[in-house]
Amino acid sequence: MRATILGSAAGGAFPQWNCGCPGCSNVRAGAPGWTARTQDSLALGADGERFVLVNASPDILVQIARTSWLHPRSPRHSPIAAIVLTNGDLDHVLGLFSLRESWPLAIYATASVWRGLEESLFLRTLRRFPEQLAARRLVLGEEVELADAKGSPLGVHARPFALPGKLPVHLVGHGAASPEDNVGLGLRGERGPRIAYAAACATVDEAVRKELASHDVVLFDGTFYREDELVRLGLSRSVAKDMAHVPIDGPTGSLAQLEGLPGRRIYTHVNNTNPILGPTEERRRVEAAGWEVACDGMAALA
Ligand SMILES: [Zn+2]
Repeated sequence: MRATILGSAAGGAFPQWNCGCPGCSNVRAGAPGWTARTQDSLALGADGERFVLVNASPDILVQIARTSWLHPRSPRHSPIAAIVLTNGDLDHVLGLFSLRESWPLAIYATASVWRGLEESLFLRTLRRFPEQLAARRLVLGEEVELADAKGSPLGVHARPFALPGKLPVHLVGHGAASPEDNVGLGLRGERGPRIAYAAACATVDEAVRKELASHDVVLFDGTFYREDELVRLGLSRSVAKDMAHVPIDGPTGSLAQLEGLPGRRIYTHVNNTNPILGPTEERRRVEAAGWEVACDGMAALA
């Protein structure tokens, strides 16, 4: 199985269109060591021909355009055979609506994420003909072999696991919270290494740690470095906890809580305010602890 990080930034991308924080300003100025990033998405495949996307970022068209193996092989074709959604956050679902030019899509999500999507009138754009959307349901703890829209298996297995999280902002107060609102994924081919994808995680408890420890590569929530990162920069009154993202730093942060985790560890879904995006003291600390910082195009599995 091959897996490539298509996008490594949190919602808003890097730089964010309306942000003049130090990181975003450094990218715009072309400062050494600061690299632009698109919004979080992972592509993986087992047969070299058909690929699975984990989440559909608003930057999906750019991500496809710059990734040659995601280009069409014939006049009306896409190697994207299935899309798995890990929550209903806009930075993970808006890309779906860019894939509307009459190509059959298989989309996997939990019942809770489906409920949120069904509220959107835009979903009708993916249902212009009967077979356009194969909507498949994921259930916590149950591994499935992913298949294309016609049902042909892709050689990629996915198992959703519970992660502390929350409803997407636009649905808060609109429905009851469920453990299926935000999931992690265990991903594997028929053989070889296993990847854990956990791009949004509110706290690291023993269950989360145990789950991650059973994988060879861990992609983990690197949204914020500090709990009060947005407050310090004067950008928001919300702390990381309000947005259901465990920060990297601090005694309950992911760096401390996931210390000694075996295998390869990569911070992804990194917010543009996070200092690990540049050549900073925070970046050196994270790397010294054995973590990598995702960038667009990085191979999670070669
Ligand atoms: Zn910024």
